Amino acid sequence: MMPTTVGFVPVSPDLVAELQLIVGHEHVITAEAEVETLSKDCYWYSPVLKSRLEAHRASAAVKVATVDELRAVLALAFRHDLPVTLRGGATGNYGQCIPLCGGLVVDVTGMDRILKIEDGVVTTEPGVRVINLERAVREQGWEMRCLPSTWVKSTIGGFIAGGSAGIGSISWGGLRHQGMIKRIKLLTLEAEPRERVLEEADALQAFHTYGTNGVIIELQLRLAPARRWDQIAITGPDWSSVAAFATRVAYDDAIPKRLLSLLEPSFGASFKPLQKWLPAGHAFIWLEVDEAHTERLVQEARQQGLHVSTVIPHHEPKRQPMLMEYGWNHSTLWMLKAHPGHTYLQLGMGADFLEKSARLQARFPGQIHLHFEFIRGNGPDGKLGRVIPVLIPVIEFVSEDHLRAVIDYAAELGIAGNNPHTCYLDEAARAPEFAAQLALKYQTDPKGLLNPGKIRSGPMPSSVRAMLPRFLFTT
Ligand SMILES: Cc1cc2nc3c(=O)[nH]c(=O)nc-3n(C[C@H](O)[C@H](O)[C@H](O)COP(=O)(O)OP(=O)(O)OC[C@H]3O[C@@H](n4cnc5c(N)ncnc54)[C@H](O)[C@@H]3O)c2cc1C
Repeated sequence: MMPTTVGFVPVSPDLVAELQLIVGHEHVITAEAEVETLSKDCYWYSPVLKSRLEAHRASAAVKVATVDELRAVLALAFRHDLPVTLRGGATGNYGQCIPLCGGLVVDVTGMDRILKIEDGVVTTEPGVRVINLERAVREQGWEMRCLPSTWVKSTIGGFIAGGSAGIGSISWGGLRHQGMIKRIKLLTLEAEPRERVLEEADALQAFHTYGTNGVIIELQLRLAPARRWDQIAITGPDWSSVAAFATRVAYDDAIPKRLLSLLEPSFGASFKPLQKWLPAGHAFIWLEVDEAHTERLVQEARQQGLHVSTVIPHHEPKRQPMLMEYGWNHSTLWMLKAHPGHTYLQLGMGADFLEKSARLQARFPGQIHLHFEFIRGNGPDGKLGRVIPVLIPVIEFVSEDHLRAVIDYAAELGIAGNNPHTCYLDEAARAPEFAAQLALKYQTDPKGLLNPGKIRSGPMPSSVRAMLPRFLFTT
């Protein structure tokens, strides 16, 4: 455990009083247990991050509801050199919103107004829960192009600053694709915080940057026309038949779909609420397809000897169960509940994904459980590209070295890996615009007070380096 005294910046009682004047007494939190809770996200997802980040927390937390409150809090932080870590729904699983240097957690869930839905674009504040945004745009005939499987808890600002892809990505790609993010409006952390607007491709400079280079105060996102999505669960005892059906449907662009998850039988027992649909020993597929295609797909599956265990017709508003809450990163969550001691990786695959994943399993027998999602890549000229399989394997956790060995062997097989066991932005997969993101950092945050420590490379003011715990440079 890291001692919290190393690199821990306290918020003094005088500053607490100033904060209370800005946001009201009840919106400044100093009670240790509450501050501890507000300092943590889903970092425990990774056993590596769990031990590394457990001891870290803010000195105080503040809840803001308006841009004016946020502006005043940021100006105060600038005057007093307080680190600021932003917090949305706190479902990030890389420890993105855990403060490494104490200071202030700023909870933005109160900034939750949807400002406009017009011409296929939604303009929104960052604290809106994704589920509420999806419901609001559906009422106007639109839907989000991409949702995280944590859509109930996560905020749209947190998704843009900390997430990457999800439900819908099989058609639309990840958040960074297809101009999905039209505009990001940021507030800088300066003596007098300024608004900074990034349009179209420039908006990616503030995408997936963990709140290190400006505070998102407004977002414009492109939407898709709403479809009526049926949910279908298909199972079968033979992995290769189930995988072949999934692959055919995944690559068929004529079938509009939002979700296609392919999982090995070993996941079945951990999805407790869905047991009645998951015969023991069966591999399975979750599908969300446009209702016009349901009947044909069900027939096709049956003709191939597969078992269609449920068809949940489209309903509005959506209600439980939602198969998407058992896909993407949720498979790891359910496995963890049933079998503590497991963890996961994120591996980008190619057309030979079944063969290569079999080789990975053969090298680490009994330790790797296969879960594939599918995501559309970027084509030439920003057009939609091909659908690409992504492997989110659940792995028995042995040690950090063992995880590294799996990633290294995957690399030998030509499989690109993203390390989800780091909280450092520059150690995870770097965005193509990482250099531009870094440049933006010191334009929007000249003192380096926004989520300090999450970026370790590039220029860093000596004052910031002095504030950071020593372990940041050694682990
Ligand atoms: C079970 C499980 C399933 C998941 N599934 C998915 C998935 O399908 N797809 C996916 O991409 N991710 C997934 N995630 C990760 C995470 O849930 C999502 O990325 C989520 O959308 C993050 O939103 P949040 O509001 O919880 O963000 P938070 O965790 O609160 O914050 C994420 C990052 O954004 C920063 N931030 C928050 N608000 C702002 C703001 N206004 N301005 C600037 N920075 C800000 C925070 O400081 C932090 O660094 C999953 C995680 C879990 C535990």
